[in-house]
Amino acid sequence: MRKTLVIGNWKMNGSLAANETLLDALLPAVKGLGGVEIALCPPFPYLSQAGWHLKDSGIALGAQTVNEHDSGAYTGEVSAAMLKELGCRYVLVGHSERRSLYRETDADSAAKFAAAKDAGLVPVLCVGETLAERQAGETEGVVARQVQAVIDALGIAALTDSIIAYEPVWAIGTGETASPEQAQAVHAFIRRLLAEQSEAVAASTPLLYGGSVKADNAATLFAQPDVDGGLVGGAALDADAFALIYQAA
Ligand code: 13P
Repeated sequence: MRKTLVIGNWKMNGSLAANETLLDALLPAVKGLGGVEIALCPPFPYLSQAGWHLKDSGIALGAQTVNEHDSGAYTGEVSAAMLKELGCRYVLVGHSERRSLYRETDADSAAKFAAAKDAGLVPVLCVGETLAERQAGETEGVVARQVQAVIDALGIAALTDSIIAYEPVWAIGTGETASPEQAQAVHAFIRRLLAEQSEAVAASTPLLYGGSVKADNAATLFAQPDVDGGLVGGAALDADAFALIYQAA
């Protein structure tokens, strides 16, 4: 059985006071709901604060990116071991905003994925096509390239105990969500790509959908056979919306 997960990516949002309010509202809202794993990915400076709040709550902690090196002269960067030490279970790798704004490549994603695994973190590899790529009929080619780059660098076995998030770039923060059928088609494609290389990895790897997941569209997205939960941006900053999304999973 694959895990079902809902992960909140706060991106570069929050403050000590705002986080306190959000976490205070969120914890009772998700209490008592079992069967689905929840994780929150706050900005680095708030990992400790969120970690304290989430202690014994059943909600896991994650980070939004990681450096591929163990330690050293990499000003401004954060290692996987540091994230692990702060209590993170998950780390996003290759988010489209990292790829487009900070020029992270497929090779960078593979190196970060490896660093996360080495530190005992669960990498959440984010993949997805731009609108231009979708319109050019390149969706499967782009997604295959992004997933295969990690497999080619690290071997298919490295994907054991990892997560893949399909986030079409055109649906991120735009209010435009992939239809359940569009999401299912790409998720099934990723599942087949994995299955060609390992049936076990294909069967066990959760595939999350991300891109304008909201309280009113989560249930139909999560009802698709190859959609194992969601990676939620904007709606994760609203406790009520996030709780409704979690309940839909
Ligand atoms: P939105 O839910 O705001 O579209 O963001 C999705 C996302 O990028 C999550 O990582």
